[in-house]
Amino acid sequence: MAQISLNNLAHSYYPNPKEQSDFALKQIDYDWQDGGAYALLGPSGCGKTTLLNLISGLLSPSTGEILFDKTDVTGLSTEQRNIAQVFQFPVIYDTMTVEQNLAFPLANRGVQKSEIDKRVSDMLMTLGLQEKAKRRARGLSADEKQKISLGRGLVRYDVNAILFDEPLTVIDPHMKWQLRTKLKELHKQFGNTMIYVTHDQTEALTFADKVVVMYDGEVVQIGTPEELFEQPAHTFVGYFIGSPGMNILPVDVSGNLARLGDHQIHLNKSYSNLDGKIELGVRPEFVRIVDKAQNLTSAIPLSIVAVEDIGRSKIVRGEINGVSINALVAEDANIPLEAFVEFDVDRICIYNDAHLVEGSF
Ligand code: ADP
Ligand code: MG
Repeated sequence: MAQISLNNLAHSYYPNPKEQSDFALKQIDYDWQDGGAYALLGPSGCGKTTLLNLISGLLSPSTGEILFDKTDVTGLSTEQRNIAQVFQFPVIYDTMTVEQNLAFPLANRGVQKSEIDKRVSDMLMTLGLQEKAKRRARGLSADEKQKISLGRGLVRYDVNAILFDEPLTVIDPHMKWQLRTKLKELHKQFGNTMIYVTHDQTEALTFADKVVVMYDGEVVQIGTPEELFEQPAHTFVGYFIGSPGMNILPVDVSGNLARLGDHQIHLNKSYSNLDGKIELGVRPEFVRIVDKAQNLTSAIPLSIVAVEDIGRSKIVRGEINGVSINALVAEDANIPLEAFVEFDVDRICIYNDAHLVEGSF
């Protein structure tokens, strides 16, 4: 296992990249801690696979270097880097049996037969494939084949890191949850450095200690699930994480006052010298719906568009001056006909050109 350091790493698929937009991965500097469980989260096309393939050595970077425990591996192959990688679609030997498939990566590295048998039998159990051990992979379902693929990534214990690229895409929804839980257990048990790519926030937040959020070739935030929820560093993170995502409202800010159209919102911090696009972010969890009878000094009239029941809570979808805003309220909350909204002032974030700005008290 190893700490993986990326130094000024960037990648373009063009031979002579000129502009930022030519880069599928914009410059990143980051140390992935030895034994960490990471998720790489972002929408399709944002550069997740590119970054993973740079780490594994399937791609060679346009600029920068990759170090494993301070040793430069930039010029080394995947094999030499000693990385296990599990892809979106099964990569297995169709003509081999399930157990032969699992044994192969170990036999290849000269592991002793008794150790191979033990590891393979443990892995068969982990994946629930004991009964299929002697079957050829060819006849199995897509689910089962992908489980073998996962198993091939996980049987080796001497790898520097295990990389997963959306490995559960072809897996049945009910099985997904089971396998994800399993991965988490295996991480706890063996402490391998794991990087798990997904576009699904639930997968990322349940699997990882640290989530790396990517947007348009750029790493926009690296944080714990709590940090991403409470202090999104970029409006994209606010919007992408959460269900529904953070409300992002166009405002003007001066000092500790934000203006949204004709309405004023008092802030608990003061902001100066803001220039460019200013937005106020507040999560639906921190938007309260109040009625006319309450103290209205800071309340803003809301026109309600829809109310969705989602089990234990309701999403109130509305508009302020034509700008959409969502509030998450208790299932039994009363929604007044003439509704107003109020924001939890401690939970307001201010963004300047999409980046979080720290105010001062
Ligand atoms: P993700 O895995 O997040 O969906 P990718 O890393 O696959 O994103 O792709 C990032 C960007 O790089 C996309 O714009 C994609 O079209 C482009 N890209 C990916 N692979 C290649 C390639 N082999 N040649 C040229 N462009 C590529
Ligand atoms: Mg991808």
